[in-house]
Amino acid sequence: MKQKLTRGKAYPRKCAHCAFGSIVEGDKEVLCTRNGVMQPDDCCSKYQYDPLKRQPKRQTLASGYSEEDFAL
Ligand code: SF4
Repeated sequence: MKQKLTRGKAYPRKCAHCAFGSIVEGDKEVLCTRNGVMQPDDCCSKYQYDPLKRQPKRQTLASGYSEEDFAL
């Protein structure tokens, strides 16, 4: 199951999502405990998915709602 999640397009294999990497410099670089400074989109054979590092896409409401739809 875990491999199914990490091999899909929704969760691409990259240093920004790896358990060994720490994002620095405003998402421009990743400090890896194994390979040093890496780019966020790089990857290696030691990749280990960390679900807490993924930033989910922002949800948007469908258009067509008015303020009255949310009033009690
Ligand atoms: S270089 Fe490899 S081990 Fe290091 S953060 Fe990137 S994928 Fe993970």
